[in-house]
Amino acid sequence: MKCSKVISMLVLVAIVLAGSFAGCTNHTKPAGQTSSANKSNIAASSPSPAKFQPLETESANSAGFKPVKNIILLVGDGMGLTQIYVPDRYLEDLYGEHLIIPTIKTRGLITTYSLSSEVTDSAAAATALFSGYKTINHMINELPNGSVPHRTLGEIFKAEGKSVGIVTSTRLTHATPAGIYAHVKSRYMENEIALQLLKFEPTVALGGGLEYFLPKSMGGKRTDGRNLIKAFEKEGYAVVFNESQLMNVNPEKTNKLLGVFSNSHMAFEVDREHIPSDECQPSVAEMTEVALKILSKNPRGFFLMVEGGRIDHACHEHDPKAEIMDTIAFDKAVRVALEFQKTHPDTLVIVTADHETGGMSVGRGTFYEANFSALKNINCSISYLDKQIVSKHLNGTAVEKLVEKWWHTRLSKEEEELLFSHNLTSEVRDRNILTDFPRVNEYVRNWAGFALAKIESERAKIGWTSFAHTGVPVPVYAVGKDSQLFKGFYDNTGIYTRVLEAAGVLH
Ligand SMILES: [Zn+2]
Repeated sequence: MKCSKVISMLVLVAIVLAGSFAGCTNHTKPAGQTSSANKSNIAASSPSPAKFQPLETESANSAGFKPVKNIILLVGDGMGLTQIYVPDRYLEDLYGEHLIIPTIKTRGLITTYSLSSEVTDSAAAATALFSGYKTINHMINELPNGSVPHRTLGEIFKAEGKSVGIVTSTRLTHATPAGIYAHVKSRYMENEIALQLLKFEPTVALGGGLEYFLPKSMGGKRTDGRNLIKAFEKEGYAVVFNESQLMNVNPEKTNKLLGVFSNSHMAFEVDREHIPSDECQPSVAEMTEVALKILSKNPRGFFLMVEGGRIDHACHEHDPKAEIMDTIAFDKAVRVALEFQKTHPDTLVIVTADHETGGMSVGRGTFYEANFSALKNINCSISYLDKQIVSKHLNGTAVEKLVEKWWHTRLSKEEEELLFSHNLTSEVRDRNILTDFPRVNEYVRNWAGFALAKIESERAKIGWTSFAHTGVPVPVYAVGKDSQLFKGFYDNTGIYTRVLEAAGVLH
């Protein structure tokens, strides 16, 4: 690890200026009491708390019903069936290995459409999964008229006295993690969402997004001038900023933990493995492992949401290798959860997705073939190459050399012709150079990234139909107590109701 060298400037600034960054140098300090249920907060955001009643003393118990104690809900963002199948075949082809997710025997399928569209975004999907009702795209845990029909799973389990944990590879303020604790009319209100995370007071929150915790004066994006890292420390949190600090956390002495490992989203796994500046970030599996150690101290149990958040971004960018590596990394987190479940049978593990991204397919164009092993030696994301080319104004041989360095193969004559057919720094979305996709979204900015994604996908014969999400159903897998509830084909809001049913909370 070259962490000392590569810790980002922003983190350095934060560490220097925050002064009392005890979490960075003394992350094992006693961090105060385990958070208690923040009932006033929940009541304020819930117009109908009477809808939920604990079953502890009710008939279900007397009939032998025993609610599940711990719930681990793992969400692969953008992870449709193909996003699971391709990495599984890749591992089989190259190493004779397999993912664990497809081996889970209790399976179901869920719809993904939102209140406003057949094709959901992650905000509306998070609302469905974690709050049990449909809302419009971009809205988190409220309806267009501003009302809040149900509390979130995070709020309910906190009120039940359980510990709540959030693990993500995106910004902690991004749509999916925000779905556990925030109520906002727009997912883009990330300044406000960070404040709501502080107010929610999770037992553990691990992910990216330091920029929304720091004021502009410290290089962050907070418009209110507040340093939320300091605010979390004041609330008794140990705060960590890199992999080694995280892995050195003493769970016995740490009751509340915040880990923020990148300025924005955490690195794609393929970059984290190979690019020095990303190496000191922890994996999703490592974050899950530490979260479980702290959360499981609560005798009343816990609710942990783990998001493999960048599978979605890889698919927006049509980057098959980044998709494969991020899904493998997410699968490792699922393994950690399943290991925990084995020794804690009163735990329910659910694995699902919020939607599919990209319309990913095995096979492309007119070919009856696919070749996953063509991706073996590609050691960085398309996004990394694109940034290198654009920021350093590379062209011609320099680009060829860069690609050869990271892909370990040369571009063919046809591939070079495609790559250099337009100015590499052209913003694809602003130019009429695409026949299939005349209007692409924010994820495809420059011709360099667009063309390289096309070349990489063509080599593996992975197809794509969209730069956005698609509206197809996504799979659900469940292990442990009451996992049978998750069988069948049902609405994505059914995840919420089934989790509550298993936990003995009436809806
Ligand atoms: Zn997306």
